[in-house]
Amino acid sequence: MFKNVLSVSSVKKSNKTHYSNWIEVDLAQFKCNLKTIRKKIGSALYCLPVKANAYGHGICEIGKAAQEACVDYLAVSSLSEGIQLRKSGIHLPILVLGAFQEEHILEFIDHDLEFSISSLFKAELVHRLLEPLGKKASIHLEIETGMNRTGARAPTARMIYAYMEKSPYFEVKGIYSHLANSDVQNAPSNQKQQQFFLDAIQSYPKNLIFHLANSGALLHFPKSYHQMVRPGLLSFGLYTKPLEEAFKNLKSCFSLKSRVSYFKVVQKDQGISYGHTHKTSKATRIATIPIGYGDGYRRSLSNTGEVLIRGQRFPIIGTICMDQLMVDIGDNEAYVGDEVVLIGAQGNQVITLHELAEKMETIPYEVLTGFNERVPRFYY
Ligand SMILES: *Cc1c(COP(=O)(O)O)cnc(C)c1O
Repeated sequence: MFKNVLSVSSVKKSNKTHYSNWIEVDLAQFKCNLKTIRKKIGSALYCLPVKANAYGHGICEIGKAAQEACVDYLAVSSLSEGIQLRKSGIHLPILVLGAFQEEHILEFIDHDLEFSISSLFKAELVHRLLEPLGKKASIHLEIETGMNRTGARAPTARMIYAYMEKSPYFEVKGIYSHLANSDVQNAPSNQKQQQFFLDAIQSYPKNLIFHLANSGALLHFPKSYHQMVRPGLLSFGLYTKPLEEAFKNLKSCFSLKSRVSYFKVVQKDQGISYGHTHKTSKATRIATIPIGYGDGYRRSLSNTGEVLIRGQRFPIIGTICMDQLMVDIGDNEAYVGDEVVLIGAQGNQVITLHELAEKMETIPYEVLTGFNERVPRFYY
């Protein structure tokens, strides 16, 4: 029933019982999220950002699921992510959002990847490289509207567009920009950026794909949908803000699990783990969980994180090690092999990604993308 897709070189077994820690991705829930968003965006194209290993969910499996469902486009940040998708048989259009190096250009073409341009210098580079080959690059022109990351200011963008239009080596597919504050509905920059984008796109042919909306915009600004939307976190069901009725079916499809690997009773006044940052106040039962910051379960959760065992919440005590952490289960029972939930539900309890992110003083995006290849992903 479970399929391990991220191959762990030395372990050929596809059975999750072979691992101590794993991530579970509920693809049925994921597809349900896609459908919910599809319904909301009407006739706009659905571009799913799958950068950073699909927000930690696994780029190839998520790409395939998206392709089977109702997604029209995938977006990645780099050439290598695009190649990874092509090698796993994805035939959807793929847009590389990030700025690129000269060496990437022919690779984009060879792997049928659309890419972003926001400087005349890069456009000239592409022209020069493609001229002898007679090939065409598929381009999305990125316009600066206020993010101040990689876009070209409107007048420069016009020039770049004119250059690309004249050259036989370009096919301009779309014009886009990115919002800096869409998660804060009332931030004044949202309206400014939207208006700026609207003004800027007036001077381009109407058959281009104009796109601006990320997750926050999809939730708050229906006028920002244009011809295509690019919601990442929302597609994974992980947006925090109170959701309107249309979005109430969006749910997280991501869990992080482990298994109890050791158990002992520790007496009163004993220091636990490196630095003895926790001391027992009474004799208690300590369960050891074989996950640590070496897997991406961050050390800043030392003495603040919690886990679920047998449907109950228990505190992580002491400093989180590279490969292990300790949990105080008090007078409760836990046995070696018991399932431990670090993100997700067990019984009536749930540890949300947001709860974890808050304790780590970061955003869910960073938590999700922090789990590395030592933690295999299983899909169902
Ligand atoms: C990451 C990214 C998105 C998706 O952002 P979410 O907040 O996850 O919806 C959209 N557009 C661009 C350009 C991005 O870099």
